[in-house]
Amino acid sequence: QAKRNGRNAFELFRPEMNQRNEHRLRLRAELHKAIEQGALELAYQPQLAIAADRVVGLEALARWHHPELGTIPPSEFIPLAEESGLILPLGRWVIRAACRQMMLWQAQGLDGFRVAVNVSVRQMRDAQLPEFIDATLTASGLAPERLELEITESLLLENAEAHIALLQRLHARGIRLSIDDFGTGFSSMAYLPRLPLDQLKIDGSFVREIPGDGEAITTAIIAMAHQLRLEVVAEGVEDAVQFEYLRQAGCDVLQGYLLSRPLTPDQAGDFLRRDVASAVPASAVAPAAH
Ligand code: C2E
Ligand code: MG
Ligand code: MG
Ligand code: MG
Repeated sequence: QAKRNGRNAFELFRPEMNQRNEHRLRLRAELHKAIEQGALELAYQPQLAIAADRVVGLEALARWHHPELGTIPPSEFIPLAEESGLILPLGRWVIRAACRQMMLWQAQGLDGFRVAVNVSVRQMRDAQLPEFIDATLTASGLAPERLELEITESLLLENAEAHIALLQRLHARGIRLSIDDFGTGFSSMAYLPRLPLDQLKIDGSFVREIPGDGEAITTAIIAMAHQLRLEVVAEGVEDAVQFEYLRQAGCDVLQGYLLSRPLTPDQAGDFLRRDVASAVPASAVAPAAH
């Protein structure tokens, strides 16, 4: 069939397709190596609780700086990792590295915030995930309440019952659960009240359209999240107009370039220290002053 109908197209596109394939194969081999050699890094983007005006979390974002190919963005290597199965070792490395970093900060007196790691659907299908997370928390000493898993909405499209059971296991251990990129996945919202969630993250694509069409959507998501007793994070907040809109709409947490770009661990440590330094000490707050 392909021969008969597609010969011309096949001949025409073959060199390009081969090049693409070769590039992907090379990237895949290089990614495998990078994971094994511990050559990936994590960047940390601060999240600000708007009412309290303090950092309540950091999102860990994978970074790959290849010596020859340069910096490869997650939008390129995460899908590759998902297709090739490398997302399992990659995802485990991310969880381990984030927990270790949190304990390094804790040893420097920096705590009172959480770390959020992105977990792909493929990882959620890994039956050993809860045991792995347990073992990692135990080995690192990080309190489960300080670890948050960001899962995408698309998870809810498939095999919901099995996923709900897995989420319940994780949540029962005290781990926080968040739905990432909310509003982009066309999931069945009917499942939302049944999931043991703590947080919804409004996708940056809606925030980008403030002022404008993004206003109705973000306001509706915030109202729904609060009805479900979930914390709401707005991601991709880049300017003061967006921030002010979201603050007045009752959004709980802000994440975006307006506050900070994703930072190296050292930069994030400095950011956290400045945040602590600028906070009003509890003893200075009069009991009646709300
Ligand atoms: P995400 O989890 O939704 O992360 C937010 C993305 O928005 C990050 O892109 C972040 O750098 C970017 N961002 C933050 N603030 C702003 C802003 O104000 N403006 C704009 N334009 N962008 C902003 P990044 O780091 O390139 O990651 C892209 C996606 O790759 C992530 O989206 C996540 O889905 C995936 N990803 C990153 N690290 C991991 C990981 O360790 N594991 C998995 N499974 N996925 C990851
Ligand atoms: Mg995320
Ligand atoms: Mg997101
Ligand atoms: Mg996103």
